[in-house]
Amino acid sequence: MDCLFCKIIAGEIPSAKVYEDEWVYAFRDIAPMAPVHVLVVPKEHICCADGINAENSHNVARIFEAIPKIAAAEGLTNGYRIINNCGEDGCQTVKHLHFHILGGKKLPDQMA
Ligand code: 5GP
Ligand code: ZN
Repeated sequence: MDCLFCKIIAGEIPSAKVYEDEWVYAFRDIAPMAPVHVLVVPKEHICCADGINAENSHNVARIFEAIPKIAAAEGLTNGYRIINNCGEDGCQTVKHLHFHILGGKKLPDQMA
């Protein structure tokens, strides 16, 4: 499968890793939109939020268990934003489920 984030997880493409466990990999976004911009992905390939189902949703739970640990390690003591872009209208550019953690400054309150 020709998936950029699968290649990053496999170490075939370098990334700035910030967290890893059995199910989850997290690394710095190559084009940060905030002082802290981390992408959190399941190691299992899931295309997008639309691809979450009863068989693979444990990955999402593991991701959301990892997020507070990542946020703490990044010093995000005053809050942060979690974003998932899904599909064409959501402007998802990489077709491997990922959650953006954005923080380190007061973010704009407009979402769209
Ligand atoms: P999306 O728009 O699909 O929600 O987010 C994809 C994100 O992946 C973008 O924020 C983009 O900057 C990031 N990205 C794309 N290619 C790479 C890469 O090769 N390495 C890293 N670390 N981030 C990438
Ligand atoms: Zn993938």
